[in-house]
Amino acid sequence: MSSKEIISVIPNSTLYDVEKIRNDFPILQTKVHGKQLIYLDNAATSQKPISVIKKTQEYYSSMNSNIHRGVHALSQVSTEAYESARIKVKSFINALGKNEIIFTRGTTESINLVTQSYGRANFQEGDEVIISQMEHHSNIVPWQMICEEKGAKLKVIPINDEGEIIFEEFEKLITHKTKFISVVYVSNSLGTVNPVKNIIDLAHQNNIPVLLDAAQAVHHTPIDVQELDCDFLVFSGHKMYGPTGIGILYGKINLLESMPPFQGGGDMIETVTFERTTYNELPYKFEAGTPNIAGAIGLGEAIDYISQVGLENIALHEKYLLDYATEAVADIPGLKIIGTAKEKVSVLSFVLDDVHPHDIGTFLDFEGVAIRTGHHCTQPVMDRYNIPATSRASFAMYNTKEEINTLVNGLRKIIEVFG
Ligand code: PMP
Repeated sequence: MSSKEIISVIPNSTLYDVEKIRNDFPILQTKVHGKQLIYLDNAATSQKPISVIKKTQEYYSSMNSNIHRGVHALSQVSTEAYESARIKVKSFINALGKNEIIFTRGTTESINLVTQSYGRANFQEGDEVIISQMEHHSNIVPWQMICEEKGAKLKVIPINDEGEIIFEEFEKLITHKTKFISVVYVSNSLGTVNPVKNIIDLAHQNNIPVLLDAAQAVHHTPIDVQELDCDFLVFSGHKMYGPTGIGILYGKINLLESMPPFQGGGDMIETVTFERTTYNELPYKFEAGTPNIAGAIGLGEAIDYISQVGLENIALHEKYLLDYATEAVADIPGLKIIGTAKEKVSVLSFVLDDVHPHDIGTFLDFEGVAIRTGHHCTQPVMDRYNIPATSRASFAMYNTKEEINTLVNGLRKIIEVFG
């Protein structure tokens, strides 16, 4: 049975046509080393549908002009397109208002904005910040930097062998000194989906704000920031079928209002004299300089594409692929999956006895299969499992069961070659 047939029997998913979706992604026709490209590195960055590519091209060929400052027609067209992308993001995550949506360069910059603005204004010596052991370096290093600057302490929620947060340990870490909690919604190296609602509820009982790193979540699961009640939510366009160099910081309006600017420059000001500068209203207070206009518009188009396919349908398809792949690798001798949480997205991290992940990645590349090998910017996770690296296959809406078969056949060949 093809993946298309299987998907078509999933309730509410009768319209999911993976071949039709694949046709929307031109790069999937590419040949690598003479083989058909099988792209399984989606957690690093996803491929882009033709609508996103065309929209970006359309921006540069018929709209290009700087935003917010011009009275001429092109400037108004580009401003409108940029601002309508903001409204698409607002609806996508159900924010209360468009002023809560800040365009940034990506997840990393969004987190740095919060640490450098909120953290610098609010943390004091002796304060504590909680993150988890499964964070991406982007959600570790900025907190380390601000904690060091302020004399605050960084505390880490441990994870169990399956790669899940140990909730009782999290509860124990909270003290009257805890000033902030920043956790990943979905782990990029383990695939774990964290119980973020429970984390937020407990944090709020103790009046602690929470930031969710949703870089690996927004394109796998519907997110409603009002229902979650998170204080900040950050993500990147390029992992959700949009352009690189564009991302989002969502923040609750009262928090964003209270925060000082992150960077100074054009657009973030209201008035400037040499004696004193007053700042623009939200969201512009946090958008200094000419932004990635084409990127924002492309991100809006990616949201349209995801919405058209349906996030629930995508999630079902990816769950099917993950279950299929997990089962398919189960009897490969010496293969161990790293990250076996009950709640997972379509990330399959593994180690293979006596074969270095780098060799696995290189061998598979010659089969046309693109996977990622290394520490995935989560070195503490590698330390937790006492391994230097894993091989990671991550699946997106356009991947198929047949592609997973090629991956598995490749792994079997590796065992033959490497003994
Ligand atoms: N957090 C997580 C969970 C990620 O997977 C990534 C990207 N691998 C990041 C943060 C950083 O995202 P970016 O490089 O787009 O800023």
